[in-house]
Amino acid sequence: MPGNSRPAGGPGLEQVRRIVTEIPGPRSRELLARQRGLVPAGVGATLPVFVEAAGGGVIVDADGNSFIDFGSGIAVTTVGNSATAVAERAAAQLRRFTHTCFLVNPYASYLDVCQRLNELAPVPGEKRTLLVNSGAEAVENAVKIARAATGRPAVVVFDHAFHGRTLLTMTLTAKNRPYKHGFGPFAPEVHRAPMAYPYRWPTGPEHCAEEAAAALADLLDRQVGADNVAAVLVEPIQGEGGFIVPAPGFLTQVAEICRARGILLIADEVQTGIARTGRMFACEHEGIRPDLVTTAKGLAGGLPLGAVTGRAELMDAAPVGGLGGTFSGNPVACEAALGVFDEIETHDLLERAQAIGDVMHQRLAELARVHPAMGDVRGRGAMIAIELVQPHGDRVPAPELAAGIARRCHAEGLLVLTAGSYGNVLRFLPPLSISDTLLDEGLTLLGEAIAKETASAG
Ligand SMILES: *Cc1c(COP(=O)(O)O)cnc(C)c1O
Repeated sequence: MPGNSRPAGGPGLEQVRRIVTEIPGPRSRELLARQRGLVPAGVGATLPVFVEAAGGGVIVDADGNSFIDFGSGIAVTTVGNSATAVAERAAAQLRRFTHTCFLVNPYASYLDVCQRLNELAPVPGEKRTLLVNSGAEAVENAVKIARAATGRPAVVVFDHAFHGRTLLTMTLTAKNRPYKHGFGPFAPEVHRAPMAYPYRWPTGPEHCAEEAAAALADLLDRQVGADNVAAVLVEPIQGEGGFIVPAPGFLTQVAEICRARGILLIADEVQTGIARTGRMFACEHEGIRPDLVTTAKGLAGGLPLGAVTGRAELMDAAPVGGLGGTFSGNPVACEAALGVFDEIETHDLLERAQAIGDVMHQRLAELARVHPAMGDVRGRGAMIAIELVQPHGDRVPAPELAAGIARRCHAEGLLVLTAGSYGNVLRFLPPLSISDTLLDEGLTLLGEAIAKETASAG
């Protein structure tokens, strides 16, 4: 396709898979070569096709290839790329004013976003919300607030956690490569407890919640000292770690352990929040009520916006001037977020996420019955993953198999993402605007890719 005619994106984009060149195509390869001379090597790309338009359930590249989107820009365009309400509200705001700095001159759309999050977040009691620019910034601020409110220094996080790439949040993150290696020294007062990871719990999934909770209590009471701990920080479903759904009951026990010790519970819902799992917040599945919750990825339909929502008395503990930032709660991003809430309501997207999850679970379970390399199928709503293992081993991770399947999917026009502490997880995060037809076609392509790759590997 000629590079000079740019298709419009959004829901009106033609909803088909179409592969017309090798992947990446010549135009993308040219741009990738240009990128190498302009952008540091540390900025990677899962599928280096340069995007011209996206919407509904597809991404169209500079060579005219149209991919089925099972990634949503890493759980960001949950309501769809350039979704109507998001694009219209943001465009109208762009013409009114682009920035004032909320710390200099406030504007009402910031308050409207905070009001929605305060109404929706599963935090008990009266609430406040702080807006920031990213997931990492939301987590950083949640920790700052927890420390200010408790006067305690330490933070406890879990194995397989991912919380961002800034100094504090990479410290909070578990995986060394590529997130931490060479980037230390790290922030102090971060301690790590085992995650209740049912598939890999040494004594089996039935003991997982109980034993992991006991390990957390032991870490708090015996190693760190509970009265030194400001907060326990947990993803209600671990994202980059491999869509690990904690063993049932574990999160409830974590909440009880925290409450009994005056430790705050922070739920990092940067990836799980805002309708992704079939609820507004993934905490709702387990009925836990954290003191603070962070959101970002799906919050503003692709515009950079993050938030910390928490109990009012905690949120108010930081002094005037202690929170905020130059761009934080940008007015265009705020309008986009209000568009996201509109889209979720207008199109019943909580239900849609659940329906997508039901289809994916069913199809993937069928595939797992014929492919022993699919060790585990897990997730909630439109946040589902498969964990790949060596077919006849002891759950030995198979990262090459995951990479090979992903490559085949990409070549056929299906964008999938990898994840997992061992690099052996394929994760699926379709936009909730994807059609049933494309969802079905994507799952069929995935099944074919798994069959071919396991045949060629075995
Ligand atoms: C992506 C992610 C972050 C970091 O968000 P950025 O916007 O990339 O800084 C933090 N926590 C979780 C759970 C995430 O998935």
